[in-house]
Amino acid sequence: MLLLVRSLSKRYRKFQALTDLSFTVSSGEIVGLLGPNGAGKTTSLRCIAGIVRPTTGSILVDGCDLLGGGEAEREAKRRIAFVPEQPNPYELLTVWEHLKFIALAYGTTDGFDTRAAQLLVRFDLAAKRDALVGTLSKGMRQKLTIACAFVRHATVFLFDEPLIGLDPRGARELREQLIAARDAGAAILISTHMLDTAQTLCDRIVILRQGTMVAEGTLDALRDRAQATGAASLEEVFFTLTGEPADTNTAVIPSAGAG
Ligand code: ATP
Repeated sequence: MLLLVRSLSKRYRKFQALTDLSFTVSSGEIVGLLGPNGAGKTTSLRCIAGIVRPTTGSILVDGCDLLGGGEAEREAKRRIAFVPEQPNPYELLTVWEHLKFIALAYGTTDGFDTRAAQLLVRFDLAAKRDALVGTLSKGMRQKLTIACAFVRHATVFLFDEPLIGLDPRGARELREQLIAARDAGAAILISTHMLDTAQTLCDRIVILRQGTMVAEGTLDALRDRAQATGAASLEEVFFTLTGEPADTNTAVIPSAGAG
């Protein structure tokens, strides 16, 4: 089990953002964290990334206690790569320097030149190699931040809404990189409220509503659940569980028969 989240709760002053959240992500698995706006997806990821301190709960990364302080916490953080929804890379470095800085910071400079050059080509940033990060477009910054996650030897990847803002080629590259990382044994957790992303990419999904887990399982299991409850599609189950109206424009997961 590469990522183990147990009884995670987070309170922002009087507001309870997460309540008793427990789930795991194994090596070789992509798990989707789904839920409507404000459900607690970003809060969960920020807690797991070690950016936000949970009020209670425990987080183990490959057996290392993220909240334990000392060497265990450093080890846990070394294994995690987090790509936030709104990346904030260092503007005064060039693209290449930024990648190098991340590799140096995480002590993963072996094979750096080849790996970094490949990532720049994959994410269409080769022409910007020597450009200052501050001059990049929004989508390019996002791609650089994604490349920074892959340039390290992380084993647990956390992505907050990673496909929003990417062009079609960037989105395809990211999907391929995620699948390759998963197949190489990484544990990947992706937040999204796009059900088609969950369908095409995730082996299992966790659905949050108002900071609480309301469903968890493989897509097949949730489809079975959809059929058992008489819902025509997983989309309907999603809306039922999250209390959302069923006539929104959210992308659709087809029913079992259509998939
Ligand atoms: P979205 O899909 O809109 O990105 P989300 O599922 O990622 O939503 P979060 O960003 O985790 O949701 O927010 C969960 C709840 O916690 C929201 O009600 C939000 O207003 C609240 N919240 C988040 N950060 C803070 C904060 N720093 N202080 C107070 N409340 C916060």
